[in-house]
Amino acid sequence: MANSLLTDASRRLDRALKYVTISEDTAERLKAPKASLKVSIPVRMDDGSLRVFEGYRVHFDDTRGPTKGGIRFHPQVSLDEVQSLAFWMTFKCAALNIPFGGAKGGVTLNPKELSKAELERLSRGYIDAIANFIGPDTDIPAPDVYTNPMIMGWMMDQYSIIRQQRSPAVITGKPVALGGSLGRSTATGTGAFYVLEAIMAQLPDSQKSTPKTVAVQGFGNAGSVVARHLFDAGYTVVAVSDSRGGIYTPSGLDIPSIQKFKADTRSVKAVYCDGSVCSLVDHTVITNEELLSLDVDILIPAALENQITGANADKIQARYIFEVANGPISADADDILEAKGITVFPDILVNAGGVTVSYFEWVQNRSGLYWSLEEVNQRLKKQIVTAANTIWQLAKTHQTSARTAAYIHALNSLGAAMDARGTRADYVRNS
Ligand code: NAD
Repeated sequence: MANSLLTDASRRLDRALKYVTISEDTAERLKAPKASLKVSIPVRMDDGSLRVFEGYRVHFDDTRGPTKGGIRFHPQVSLDEVQSLAFWMTFKCAALNIPFGGAKGGVTLNPKELSKAELERLSRGYIDAIANFIGPDTDIPAPDVYTNPMIMGWMMDQYSIIRQQRSPAVITGKPVALGGSLGRSTATGTGAFYVLEAIMAQLPDSQKSTPKTVAVQGFGNAGSVVARHLFDAGYTVVAVSDSRGGIYTPSGLDIPSIQKFKADTRSVKAVYCDGSVCSLVDHTVITNEELLSLDVDILIPAALENQITGANADKIQARYIFEVANGPISADADDILEAKGITVFPDILVNAGGVTVSYFEWVQNRSGLYWSLEEVNQRLKKQIVTAANTIWQLAKTHQTSARTAAYIHALNSLGAAMDARGTRADYVRNS
């Protein structure tokens, strides 16, 4: 497991453990997933051929409730990646005081190479393969990179066919017409903006009257929404990027027109945005590597994990980093950034708006009572800003990074739940 993503993720846990009083048994149990499922998904392609895709679903820990976590369709999906994402979900739900454990799923493929019909067959095939591993009371999937509400709708439908009853609460991030929550599609970016605003108001820099400059890596679901909120609030978003590269304008980009361009250039498949932000306005084209090292006040990695590592951390010039992506900074980069005086706000807090509104969706599905967008956003703001303030206070009390403080907060909650469940293992051994 040396150098694995999960080992790297666990290093953050080790740093927080010395500040909490949980048992060694509990700490040990939190280092490995509870269960990992690897499946093969045969898919009949449009040309009549058969392709078999590899998929995964991992339950990391379910002490605090049914496990929860998104499904990623991406060529880099591996068991190690899915396990680390499930690890982060466990700590994210605990840090936000959401009554869920952590899980994640994924299929290794480039979904942009599939037609819409092939994608639907793959999505249904994935649910066929994991149906006994998920359920409204056991494990509840949601969207992640390159999956979306349409795919969640197909998956919910397939699960309902298998169970022979409509089961909206098995999956969140569904289309609103199928029981999705208002505000879910924008929740990750909106939650990140609430955290950023709450924290920035408490930083010495908040007194500065000049507009703050921001660079956003990854102009997808999460990144484009947070960029739009920042633009509307008067921040100067100088650079954004997608998988093909980035654009940079020191005077600031017009985020609404970039959002419109991305939406307008959606292909006829109507699944993914095929337009790149790189062909839009008067701008300088930059690489993703260049975007990360721009001299800005705030850097927002919102694409994939391991974007800032020991190899490039010394080039980062931003004063604050808000991790909207999961795991964009490797553990070895933490110390380098800290030594440079860069303050990092961690993924398990900053991007928790998505799982918070997924929890709201699950509650609405189970109660049958649906909330207005205003109510969803009010509840989201209250829950995520409470967590942000608690974590920031813990960081000051223990004089640790915000990341370690977030893990301390989550560990306290997880440790209390594990201890409260008793010691069945000891009981069984001694009986
Ligand atoms: P998305 O598929 O909507 O967008 C991903 C974006 O990143 C796309 O614009 C893509 O072009 C870009 N991208 C891909 N590879 C890149 C690279 N190497 N460099 C720069 N850009 C690249 O995905 P999303 O849902 O916005 O997720 C983005 C991140 O946020 C992921 O880490 C995901 O786990 C995390 N996240 C998402 C949610 C959610 O609700 N969507 C919730 C929590 C965390």
